Amino acid sequence: MSLAPSKLIFEKHKNGRRGFSYGALDVPLAKPLAVKYCRQTGAQLPCLSELDVVRHYTNLSRLNFSVDTNFYPLGSCTMKYNPKFTEHIAAFEGFSQLHPLLPQLSGGGILCQGSLEVLYESEKLFSEITGMSAFTLQPMAGAHGELTGVMLIAAYHKDQGARRYIIVPDSAHGTNPASAAIAGYEIKIISTGADGYLDLEQYKKNLNNEVAAVMLTCPDTLGIFNPRIKEIADLAHAVGALLYYDGANLNAMLGKCRPGDIGFDLVHLNLHKTFATPHGGGGPGAGPVGVCQKLVEFLPISRVIRRSDGIFALDYNYPKSIGYIAPFYGNFGVILKAYAYILALGKEGLIEAAQIAVLNANYCQARLKEYYDLAFDKTCMHECVFSASRQAKNGVHALDIAKYLIDQGIHPPTIYFPLIVKEALMIEPTETESKETLDVFIDTMIQIAELAKNNPARITQLPLNMPIKRLDEVRAARQPDLRWKKS
Ligand SMILES: *Cc1c(COP(=O)(O)O)cnc(C)c1O
Repeated sequence: MSLAPSKLIFEKHKNGRRGFSYGALDVPLAKPLAVKYCRQTGAQLPCLSELDVVRHYTNLSRLNFSVDTNFYPLGSCTMKYNPKFTEHIAAFEGFSQLHPLLPQLSGGGILCQGSLEVLYESEKLFSEITGMSAFTLQPMAGAHGELTGVMLIAAYHKDQGARRYIIVPDSAHGTNPASAAIAGYEIKIISTGADGYLDLEQYKKNLNNEVAAVMLTCPDTLGIFNPRIKEIADLAHAVGALLYYDGANLNAMLGKCRPGDIGFDLVHLNLHKTFATPHGGGGPGAGPVGVCQKLVEFLPISRVIRRSDGIFALDYNYPKSIGYIAPFYGNFGVILKAYAYILALGKEGLIEAAQIAVLNANYCQARLKEYYDLAFDKTCMHECVFSASRQAKNGVHALDIAKYLIDQGIHPPTIYFPLIVKEALMIEPTETESKETLDVFIDTMIQIAELAKNNPARITQLPLNMPIKRLDEVRAARQPDLRWKKS
């Protein structure tokens, strides 16, 4: 049977059908509500039986794709498995029933001391893991962290003399130049050389005292760790520019090396890519931003402090702060789950997570290398980037490969990103997948490569098993049809 929710719940309406009916009243009727409070016409709700409603929503929920249902190797995005104990902890009443306006100081503040302590300790853990001096936990996502970071960069340079440019490599995630532009900077893009590394000569030529910052992802979005990263950092500092670390790929380096030790001045973490709490299905994320000592005074307010009497409190007294960037304390539940995850794994566990993430990606790369062209033939970090250009010659594009995988119940890798790789297929298996799962994925990818060679037409018609086939994506975005109309 197809899982397709072939009809909207409104279309399943049958006049008079009921899911549940109350028995006849055996007490006197209360005084009726004043007429002005009463609906004059019936509510426009569909009438269905209880079972029909249960089936409708159960079937809809089965259309969701998540790490909990299937393999999800979406490169760059790190669709990390969320261990269930973190959900359990986040559901504790003391956390889940917290109200953001509880008084924070002694006396009434007793009610949220535990939660403030979680925030305070999380800051300390993130600082230790990244080698930074302090963190703000407020940004709601990676991109929001980037904007916060660039605002901090602007605040710093305002004190030192304004600057115009932010340097971004051409392999960067689109949110990097976008955040820099929103904060008012002009962007200079540096190419990736034929060896897969940032073009150092071009980089040097573009560095001058008008550059406010260099934004880098490390390992970069090609899944490669640049061995000259320290030199790149030193060159930026030599002209007074700050170095920004896009932390989307920190999962590969946990406990191995710290952005702060390399020379990065600011970092954002995507808690939802590194410390459990995946963002699948549009769920919340968190993008805490860490800074080196000279930027601490600019961090957003409020900040969690521990007073000399041991009480945790919120402090607003930072005259140079960039101000509020989010209400209250950020996505507290996400931060809490990341905190629990870090404590549960401990230092050794985090290092092992990074090692297995890298091992899994290299296993995929090694087994698929023969069938797909590698963007750059190097040992990869936690993700590997192939190109489907060999398959594209037969009319099988990255998009077609993605559709085949969807039909097989596997989430496609990231396609067409990084932009500098033609027909890019960016595979990030993460550390929690077993060899058996990886083998099913790899064997499917090999099957596709063989079909692309021998029977390409078989692939370009897919998916067959999905309720929705190939969308006109432009039309879907420009003319969305979201409203049900009674026919
Ligand atoms: C995901 C990602 C971002 C943006 O983070 P969000 O949490 O999705 O806003 C930025 N840079 C890179 C490299 C990413 O993969």
